[in-house]
Amino acid sequence: MDLVKNFGSLVFSDEVMKNHLPSETYKSLKKSIEFFLPLEPEIASVVACAMKDWAIKNGATHYTHWFQPMTGRSAGKHDCFIDLKNGNVTIKFSGSGLIKGEPDASSFPNGGLRNTFEARGYTVWDCTSPAFIKDKTLYIPTAFCSYNGEALDAKTPLLKSMEVISTQALKILKYFGDEKTTSVIPNVGAEQEYFLIDRAKYEKRLDLKICGRTLFGANPVKGQEMDDHYCSRIKIKVSDFMKELDERLWAFGVCSKTKHNEAAPAQHEMAPCFESCNVAADHNQLIMETMRVLAKEKGLACLLHEKPFFNVNGSGKHNNWSLSKNNGTNLLEVGKTKEENIQFLIFLCAIIRGVSLHAGLLRMTAAHAGNDRRLGGNEAPPSIISIFLGEHIFSILESIEKGGEITGDELHEIFVTKAKTLPNFLKDNSDRNRTSPFAFTGNKFEFRMLGSSSSISFSTTVINLIVAESLECFAEIFEEEKDLEKAATKIISETMREHKKIIFNGNNYSKTWEDEAKKRGLCNIKDTVTAAQELMKKENVFMFEHFNVFSKGECEARYKIALYSYCETIAIEAHTMLEMVGKEILPAINNHTKNVCDLFLKIEKTCGLQNKSLKNEVEFLNSSIEKINEYKEKLKESLKESENFKEIKEKAEFSRDVILKNMENLREIVDSLEQIIPKDLLKIPSITEILHKV
Ligand code: ADP
Ligand code: MG
Repeated sequence: MDLVKNFGSLVFSDEVMKNHLPSETYKSLKKSIEFFLPLEPEIASVVACAMKDWAIKNGATHYTHWFQPMTGRSAGKHDCFIDLKNGNVTIKFSGSGLIKGEPDASSFPNGGLRNTFEARGYTVWDCTSPAFIKDKTLYIPTAFCSYNGEALDAKTPLLKSMEVISTQALKILKYFGDEKTTSVIPNVGAEQEYFLIDRAKYEKRLDLKICGRTLFGANPVKGQEMDDHYCSRIKIKVSDFMKELDERLWAFGVCSKTKHNEAAPAQHEMAPCFESCNVAADHNQLIMETMRVLAKEKGLACLLHEKPFFNVNGSGKHNNWSLSKNNGTNLLEVGKTKEENIQFLIFLCAIIRGVSLHAGLLRMTAAHAGNDRRLGGNEAPPSIISIFLGEHIFSILESIEKGGEITGDELHEIFVTKAKTLPNFLKDNSDRNRTSPFAFTGNKFEFRMLGSSSSISFSTTVINLIVAESLECFAEIFEEEKDLEKAATKIISETMREHKKIIFNGNNYSKTWEDEAKKRGLCNIKDTVTAAQELMKKENVFMFEHFNVFSKGECEARYKIALYSYCETIAIEAHTMLEMVGKEILPAINNHTKNVCDLFLKIEKTCGLQNKSLKNEVEFLNSSIEKINEYKEKLKESLKESENFKEIKEKAEFSRDVILKNMENLREIVDSLEQIIPKDLLKIPSITEILHKV
């Protein structure tokens, strides 16, 4: 395969645009993309025509406005390019069709922003993310908003936050004499973990099919105790999947770069090259979708749930975030001159301050029912947000705080020397480093809390905004204090004084850290219900409003959706458990009990012997059946009770405290029986069988 030629072959890329558009149109479009300018309608018509011709030439029959509603996934309605005009077939795709769509999208979550009877919603072309062809359909990335302009999706706030951080970062760059840079871009590289299991086994488990995770199942006889899966030889079937995944993603313009086996059996990871965060967010959706579909085609199932199996590592998604000038210079990279290094420290401080002031909000961006099962389990960061900087950078910041000068050359020398060894330093200490939820890794920050199924959009939106807010505050200091170095020293020492508490270079998994974090007054938010409250906190609503990203109403809508989705996830899981217990598990246990009873009686009748162990087993099975029935009823009752709550917060708390507890009790008793129920009776594949099949 011609790697370069194949890359982006299904994308209406910059190069395709250049070749297919009149040069004036191309220039105007590029300007809109770079400067966040609205698109002229005439330009849209010309682009639409070129896009349509290119798509049809490349086999497309349909087009779709592809958007990301507040479900965490993507959606779109597909329209054919052909139309009837006076009884004749024609091809139709206009500029307005490219720019705006109106899906009947009343069924998507809106948190009360729209009522179904006034459910007008618009999709609006996002010209900053390239269109592509998939399944003979031209996918046009779009934002999705209500008739009144409220954001109903993940993209709109992300785009707004990019504009905000660009504006604020440019202000800072000007103080450093940079008049050339015209925009500043947040970049993201999102590492994606996943499980790959045998399809036939997957199909036999209602819990995996409906909920994406196993709701029952004894611990596997072999998990990850031997550390023999991480980066081990990739099995042929998995390798075959990965190769085809690469090829498909490359054609979509996704630069799938790294692949390896992860810690748990049947767990893997892929990492794409980083790119502008908006495109990275779209691409991450595309990656997850392609993984699911391809796995099915290959007789496999791809699990993107954060915790598909109890007691083996779950899957995360690392959001690697950095900031670059439009010429590609990374602002989180240590510089060559004293000024460049001061600038680097300023951006670093903006991140420290932002994370410290909005730690709870950042935590919230990783909160949902699935990820609650993973965070804090010594496989992912704990629920406490902190920043890892590494001792060297920390000591430089600390010395400035203590009144030390930013000694140009010296700083430069120490810094560069140390920075050169920094990647090695981090690698040598990867145990400690890997435990941090927000780690500086040389020239980017790695937010490691996200769950594998999450969209990266909201966490990126929040990172962009909290950093922008600090940059805005720093710009005021630069404005007041004309001397660059004095202003920088003030910013650094103030940031350290007020926000040093968020920096932690030690082991985040240790119990002592939890105690230490408490002493430092850091928030430790353990579950989604608590995390969701962060969205409504004064300082967070203020920030969203201040930057015109969300109104208070939009914050509230997202808050409600987070809780609603939490309740529904748990309710669906509980119903699935009841279905499995009623239709599969209890009948199997009953049958087994009957068989043991029969055997006991037969031995007594034919041989006149009393088999004590069989009698004990019957007694044990009998009491277990009673317990299962008891827990089943309790779970049913709690589900019923949850219907009565009027307030979503109360319902969510009840789901967390009562329903989840009842589910755990039911699971525990069922799991304890798994190893004694014969395979021909309990037809659900065990976790051991699932993890060690592919
Ligand atoms: P690790 O597993 O050690 O974290 P990987 O190589 O698997 O490292 O993943 C690193 C991810 O970080 C990749 O997606 C990569 O593209 C991304 N990345 C690298 N540099 C930057 C950067 N400057 N900004 C954002 N992301 C980056
Ligand atoms: Mg990583």
